[in-house]
Amino acid sequence: MLVLVINSGSSSLKYQVRDVAAGTVLTEGLIEKIGMGNGGDGDGEIEGPRDHAEALEQVDAAIHQELGGLELAAVGHRVVHGGERFAEPVLIDNEITRAIERLNPLAPLHNPANVLGIRAITRKWPDMPQVAVFDTAFHRTLPEHAWRYAVPDELYTNHGIRRYGFHGTSHEYVTRRAAALLDLPVEEFDGVIAHLGNGASVTAIRGGNSVDTSMGFTPLEGLVMGTRSGDLDPSILVFLGRAGWTPEDLDTMLNRESGLKGLAGNNDMRSVVEASESGDAKAATALAVTSYRLAKYIGGYHVAVGGAKALVFTAGIGENSHQFRALVADRLGALGVELDAGLNAERSRDPRVISTAGSAIPVLVVPTDEERAIAEATAAVVSSSVAP
Ligand code: ADP
Repeated sequence: MLVLVINSGSSSLKYQVRDVAAGTVLTEGLIEKIGMGNGGDGDGEIEGPRDHAEALEQVDAAIHQELGGLELAAVGHRVVHGGERFAEPVLIDNEITRAIERLNPLAPLHNPANVLGIRAITRKWPDMPQVAVFDTAFHRTLPEHAWRYAVPDELYTNHGIRRYGFHGTSHEYVTRRAAALLDLPVEEFDGVIAHLGNGASVTAIRGGNSVDTSMGFTPLEGLVMGTRSGDLDPSILVFLGRAGWTPEDLDTMLNRESGLKGLAGNNDMRSVVEASESGDAKAATALAVTSYRLAKYIGGYHVAVGGAKALVFTAGIGENSHQFRALVADRLGALGVELDAGLNAERSRDPRVISTAGSAIPVLVVPTDEERAIAEATAAVVSSSVAP
């Protein structure tokens, strides 16, 4: 089955065409600067497509040029927020699209763009089956004690203020692959998954289900990230608000100017590691804060899952930065975690164990592939919906 996977942002549209059975990518691309151009007519600067519909025309043309007259069977959308309703991928119809739209206030940067992507496809290919795969869905199994904030109940009941968690598609995919690597049925997998990319989150997995995760109401909570602060004392915001900072100032500071960037002046882990190795004290501090925060979460989640059977690293930093993995593992001695320096330094695209035989908890590197997971989920939903 050929599936077009769409990750639609407010000004960009990422796509892949995947052959689900073969597990291959037939073509992929990125359309940028949506809404910033005039679509090619008039005599102004041509910067990008006018809207998501025009971006989709470009995708269609590019796919056609690359792959000729192949038949797409379905489209799978990455949708950031599924709120409390969506615990699984769903076949999209009008009601579902409107339900996703109603969640816009919870993800004002992402869900409106996802809806634009869905509507553009609906208009262009009205009969094409479309599936929404939600970033929050895997975390619908969080127990209430993990998703509640200790604030007045009215904030939850009237405003939906609770922890939702994100990166679910990746955490679920990596959970399945990690269990397979350890020869365990996924229902018997208890472990901790650290998804460390530009955004980063860590999830506690018990019996194959998410029981806690570090991102909360938004993807800001939790770990130190490329440009996001992660956890801090909320009174800091009150303090700054009284000093005249606007909500927009605070949002920019916390989401775009903090994290590695705020501490070390650079949001790219490679550069921060290099700077630290050549003696940059700020870079060393940034790595210490970032690895310490993650180690604290891993310790907490070891308790949450009743004793982790594995610690798993994934995404850009988790898969590639042996230095950062070593910094984290060095802080986990109390759990009996011990990396094999040789295995940790090896580069590979395959899921692998990087701890010593004597490590109390095996440490794994398992490459994530969110597009693959979305394509597989889409194929599964479409196949089951046409079954007799
Ligand atoms: P996104 O969340 O945007 O998908 P990625 O998963 O691609 O992000 O992760 C980006 C991060 O991975 C960056 O901090 C980058 O420095 C880091 N990274 C990528 N490749 C390497 C590498 N070879 N060594 C160390 N860090 C790497």
